[in-house]
Amino acid sequence: MSLRDILIAQIRAQGPMRLDAYISACLLHPQHGYYTTATPFGSAGDFITAPEISQMFGELIGLALAQAWLDQGALTPFTLAELGPGRGTLMADALRAASRVPGFIAGAQIVLLEASPALREVQKQTLKSHAPQWIDRIDELPEQPTFLIANEFFDALPIRQFVRDGAKWRERHVGVTDGQLTFGLGPAQPQPALMHRLDDTKDGDLIEDCAAAAPLLSTISNRIASHGGAALVFDYGDWRTLGDTLQAVRGHASADPLVSPGQADLTAHVDFEALLHAVVPCTASRVTPQGVFLERLGITARAQALAKTLSGAALDAHVAAHRRLTHPQEMGNLFKTFGIVPKGAAMLPGLET
Ligand code: SAH
Repeated sequence: MSLRDILIAQIRAQGPMRLDAYISACLLHPQHGYYTTATPFGSAGDFITAPEISQMFGELIGLALAQAWLDQGALTPFTLAELGPGRGTLMADALRAASRVPGFIAGAQIVLLEASPALREVQKQTLKSHAPQWIDRIDELPEQPTFLIANEFFDALPIRQFVRDGAKWRERHVGVTDGQLTFGLGPAQPQPALMHRLDDTKDGDLIEDCAAAAPLLSTISNRIASHGGAALVFDYGDWRTLGDTLQAVRGHASADPLVSPGQADLTAHVDFEALLHAVVPCTASRVTPQGVFLERLGITARAQALAKTLSGAALDAHVAAHRRLTHPQEMGNLFKTFGIVPKGAAMLPGLET
């Protein structure tokens, strides 16, 4: 039975499904989920992420975290954590670069939050010399200084969508019509958690809510506020998102999110305002375009140094990768980053409060 058939049977038995439950099943169903079964990254996969585009991304992040670690007194032991590490490429590049900083690797305990057993296997291979540990829930992060990175993790968390109807909201759900999965709208209901969105929306507007994001960030901020550390979050999205941003990608092309559940990546834009509300125990930086951040950390100097070792097609690919990561019309502007540090600590390099 395919995931599509399973979901259709479930909806016929129990009624329309909430969108967050649909997205969860598509991404993480134990037998048929997209992340559970596939290793979707890279040029052969369905999409490519910044660390898979160039080693420079992970290197600069590793050095930025190592600088924050030095600024806070080189506390050891400490946790070096990643949320949703994919193939482990970012962490491997970060560790290689940060190994130049005396004491950093020896003091680091690598902790990975990863839901997909298939990707855990890949991470195990990529990071075998660093003996990583995996956790299932964020509150399993050790009670010690915590330096954490998340790239394209929050966009994979399930969202709900609501359409405004007067001062109430109709929730978008997934139903079945003529044997096909289709979107529908539930009855108009008050949504106390969405009160603040009555200020900037009008009748018929669609907004999104990612309930899982804030508790994750709030646990991370509490760790960092109590023990020291820093977090760097990268994702695509904006301040207070408006409209339908759910997208499915399959084979580097956009797809219909309802057509082949479990076989396409599903993501939604991240609402940075909602994320930043959850980090109040710490100081947060401004939300900064990825391109600006990487330029401030010296990506162009690193690109030039690497270019000296390359020629022909490899050099062309390297130049294209640099542009792709930083150019405003590529990932440079759509992707944003922010950092958090304990109150009173120096902000991460490349970011400002
Ligand atoms: N950071 C990587 C991969 C991004 S894709 C990169 O930049 O290449 C999203 C990652 O988050 C995958 O590793 C996926 O398996 C993981 N993931 C998605 N939802 C998750 C959840 N709810 N809990 C833990 N990991 C999750």
